[in-house]
Amino acid sequence: MKTQFNGFNTILVHAGEPRPLIEGAVTLPIFQSSTFECRDTDSGMRYIRLNNTPNHIALHEKLAVIEGGETALVTASGMAAISAALLAVLKQGDHLMVQSDLYGGTHGFITQDLPDMGIEADFFDASDPGSWETALTPQTRAIYVESISNPLMKVCDLEAVLEFSRKHSLISIIDNTFTSPVNYKAAAAGFDLCLHSCSKYLNGHSDILAGAVIGRKPLVDKAARKLLHLGGSLDPHACFLLQRGMKTLQLRILQHNDNALAAAQYLAGHPKVVAVHYPGLADSPYHEVAQRLFTGFGGVLSFEVQGGTSAAEIFIKALHLPTNGPSLGGVESLVTRPATSSHRGMSPEARRKAGISDGLIRFSTGIEDQEDLLADLEQALERV
Ligand SMILES: *Cc1c(COP(=O)(O)O)cnc(C)c1O
Repeated sequence: MKTQFNGFNTILVHAGEPRPLIEGAVTLPIFQSSTFECRDTDSGMRYIRLNNTPNHIALHEKLAVIEGGETALVTASGMAAISAALLAVLKQGDHLMVQSDLYGGTHGFITQDLPDMGIEADFFDASDPGSWETALTPQTRAIYVESISNPLMKVCDLEAVLEFSRKHSLISIIDNTFTSPVNYKAAAAGFDLCLHSCSKYLNGHSDILAGAVIGRKPLVDKAARKLLHLGGSLDPHACFLLQRGMKTLQLRILQHNDNALAAAQYLAGHPKVVAVHYPGLADSPYHEVAQRLFTGFGGVLSFEVQGGTSAAEIFIKALHLPTNGPSLGGVESLVTRPATSSHRGMSPEARRKAGISDGLIRFSTGIEDQEDLLADLEQALERV
């Protein structure tokens, strides 16, 4: 009998899991061993930093299958995945095109570390495909985008990015953290390399850091060779937690999608809310493109309440359910003001230019019941 691996929940539960079961264990055990015996049947040595323990191998297959990629590499954090992938693709003298709204750590790596290695980058306005050619140079090797940008939830036309990269023979790279493969399968869509901070949705429980590089085998293999020297390999215990978390990815994401949409619609209709950023809202400038590309709009939104920063502070303090803290993608709701967390490294002037007001609130919806979340938003807004 051929095993049926068609449904996405089935894939999440079963892909990459060892058969036959090891000692009959229904869950792949943690191989908490840094090194392994060399046996005649082995093709090489096995060691955690080589990312080839049984826990790594199982995860790699699950990660590759869920994005529709040829192969995958798990890493010690999202930034380990991003840095290894960029260093695999770029060498001295190369040029990178990057979307201007970017995760802060990625922005720092590209603007502070890559220039030291003779790698230059130019930022482009993802919402204006007509302007992209002006960022192109004869040395441009790759183009880098995020599926949904943070904190204003912008969505660029990812099909146009793929077309542009094919036309100009660029390596296409996407950080697919915010959508997750439930809402958008980036490698299947055609991206050469697809990156994740698995610390967010893929693990989903805010208890580990991890990352992933998924995509074309020669590029992922090159990233693995970089990672070997950079040293950012994931510990087997964290591998185990990530693998466990991934099994419920779709169940969680569907609830995140529903909760974020309900919260965005509720907030958009509230007289004390002056702006809501969420691609699932019908009047979002990114709604049309997000609807064409994604099967869901994700669990994160951002908004502004009347009264600016001080009102935002009062609102956040008044919330009972969401914790005031950075990060996102866990089962529990989190809120943060990007001006004090993810974007505090930017100057106030640069933030203003980017449209990130000091009072902006980012809301990572958890999987709590919608009625409870909306009631909490309501009572907190009464205090503003
Ligand atoms: C959190 C995050 C990262 C960095 O991931 P770490 O696991 O914290 O290293 C990269 N990209 C995006 C979009 C993120 O949200």
